[in-house]
Amino acid sequence: MLLIKGGEIFDADSSLLKQSDILVSDDGLIADKGCNLEGGPGTEVFNADGLAVVPGLIDMHVHLREPGFIHKEDIHSGLAAAAAGGFTAVMAMPNTSPVCDNGAIVRYMYDKAAGANGARLMVCGSISKGLQGKELSLMGEMAQAGAVAVSDDGRTVMSAELMRLAFQYAGRFDLPVITHCLDENLAANGAMHLSPVSLRLGLRGIPGSAEDIIVARDILLAEEANARLHIAHISTRRSAEMVRQAIRQGCRVTAEVTPHHLTLTDEAVEGYDTATKVSPPLRSDIDRLAMIKALNDSTIGVIATDHAPHAVEEKMVEYDLAPFGLIGLETALPVLLTALVHSGAVPLERLLKAMSAGPAAALGVTGGRLSVGLPADITVIDLNEEHIIEPSVFLSKARNTPFAGWKVKGRAVATIVGGKVVFRR
Ligand SMILES: [Zn+2]
Ligand SMILES: [Zn+2]
Repeated sequence: MLLIKGGEIFDADSSLLKQSDILVSDDGLIADKGCNLEGGPGTEVFNADGLAVVPGLIDMHVHLREPGFIHKEDIHSGLAAAAAGGFTAVMAMPNTSPVCDNGAIVRYMYDKAAGANGARLMVCGSISKGLQGKELSLMGEMAQAGAVAVSDDGRTVMSAELMRLAFQYAGRFDLPVITHCLDENLAANGAMHLSPVSLRLGLRGIPGSAEDIIVARDILLAEEANARLHIAHISTRRSAEMVRQAIRQGCRVTAEVTPHHLTLTDEAVEGYDTATKVSPPLRSDIDRLAMIKALNDSTIGVIATDHAPHAVEEKMVEYDLAPFGLIGLETALPVLLTALVHSGAVPLERLLKAMSAGPAAALGVTGGRLSVGLPADITVIDLNEEHIIEPSVFLSKARNTPFAGWKVKGRAVATIVGGKVVFRR
């Protein structure tokens, strides 16, 4: 038994922080919740005085790079980094080598994760074979092996006809379709957001319309198929407005935003730090503020990091040549608490929901609640602990973060998965 004592519990049902204890049974379930709980003999007591005890954080968009690119990250290092960031579950995207487009790769990934000490793994299969955008993947086989969604993330399925089929086919297995929305012709060779900043820096720009056009297309296709659509890393004002309208009209659409699109703009590219090169690119401040507004009014129900590790030497090249992506698992919570919650831009409850109940609902998996009988996936947070972000101590293999040196307030101090403390600071 594990007794978490004296913490401020965030309960999605009441949306309030209130003092309560949580008792976890030996089989890893929440056995009881309330004041002044006592465990039996041999109970391990976790003193959570002054700490927030919240439903385990879920990151539904990470790249763990295994199989194929384990010099960047692997399943074990990625799940350990997730736990260190306070995440109890993450979903791995399929752009590995080989691509996760069949049941055997899905099973391989779950087998690898079984030996890891960290967050739970969920696997996302691909929409198209080899991410080629030509032929659908073996979705039924992947669903049977435990895949919880499909996506060609990293690529956009440019054929509207294939996307139409994907929505119909994925719907038969109740898999949400997750789309990385960037028209590949409009975005071709772009390195950053098309704006006065890109003109000044002499970098080729990616217009906001490259995203908006595909968001519009996918909403139309999903609506027609009555399928579940989840839009990955939304980043523009117009796209957020389209999702808002679609939800109003009863379309089954959800959307996620990254910590970096909530906190940084294209101005961060000044200085050519390749850690700021990300897809979709960091947008204008008008777009960033629209993301915060959409998060606050629940148009955007999910925050996901799009953790995209690269080796140091891969990012130490000219901006134009650097690969897209930045890492987020170990910085998301401190950065968001500091820049959004402590600043007063987003209520704490809203942030926590977008990092737990929101992704659980978008994927249709358990999570986001601390209810008796559910698995004890719990994150313990010190909301006020001040520190400086120092990439050299990350458990991730990668260091490509634009947040190095940030002075932040608040972070996870313990991560509990199925009743087991998998990370403790
Ligand atoms: Zn993407
Ligand atoms: Zn991604």
